[in-house]
Amino acid sequence: MAELCRLCLGPTEDGAEHPACLRRLFGRPQRPPIEVDPANLHWFGQEMAGRASVSGVQRKVSLGWSHKHLRVVAGRSSYLLKPAESAYPSLPENEHLSMKLAELAGFEAPPCGLVPLRDGNLAYLVKRFDRRGHGRRLAMEDFCQLAGLPPAEKYQGSAEQCLKLVRRHSTAPGVDAALLFRLFLFAWWIGNGDLHRKNLALLCPDAQTARLAPVYDLVNTAILIPEDSLALTVRSKRSRLDRADWRSFGADGGLPEKLVAKELDRLPALLDAALAFVQASFLPGRLRAAYAEQLRARSTVLEAREAGEEG
Ligand SMILES: [Zn+2]
Repeated sequence: MAELCRLCLGPTEDGAEHPACLRRLFGRPQRPPIEVDPANLHWFGQEMAGRASVSGVQRKVSLGWSHKHLRVVAGRSSYLLKPAESAYPSLPENEHLSMKLAELAGFEAPPCGLVPLRDGNLAYLVKRFDRRGHGRRLAMEDFCQLAGLPPAEKYQGSAEQCLKLVRRHSTAPGVDAALLFRLFLFAWWIGNGDLHRKNLALLCPDAQTARLAPVYDLVNTAILIPEDSLALTVRSKRSRLDRADWRSFGADGGLPEKLVAKELDRLPALLDAALAFVQASFLPGRLRAAYAEQLRARSTVLEAREAGEEG
């Protein structure tokens, strides 16, 4: 079997990462030493309001450059690293695959990849998109802040409310409303039940611009938590959504009917390419099969047209 690049999931000669992929993530064609001891990473536990949640157990650590090594830093950081967690198997591999699928579906995603740590496990590494040169921080407002809600209420409310927020606060409201609709749909397609208000944000690179941020924190949680459901309601539902629900959600959000229909058709059309990514991923076989099954099932739901629908 061909060896795979841990950054793009494409085949490589010897299992090493492609120089171009390394350059995109690290700015240089070699993987730098990553000075992180997973045994010493703290667990930043968060209150999850009684909900089983992957983000409730996921540790995150900020890394910055120091003498051409990446190390844990408290100040100006350029990367986030998420190690493997015992509570949920293969989270780094799951998030990496989910981000690659987001790119496949046309979303802007920051450079990311899998990196081996000292304990032999792979960790997920992603370049911070809220930083510019020398770690300067860009203003960002998540959808709790936009709604004036405390972080603990990140699972409160609906996708409809988020569409209204983006229309009110984005400086490209129409484009970003369509993008947010696509993101809710995509998250459902990949079984991500963790697209809550704090995993959605507007990024403000300057005082005149507020745009929906690149995607982040995407994981297929459905293959890890059997009873998992959507983080925010769509049409007052957290599960058992069908094509009609998504059409109504788009229409109520003020999106053109044709655009919505095109989006609903686009994901099933990507299924074969997505399954190839799943197969190439570093997930163990059992989770690869579950991820693939998820994508097939949700594509089938989207393909079930209603009576009277055109096309
Ligand atoms: Zn590559």
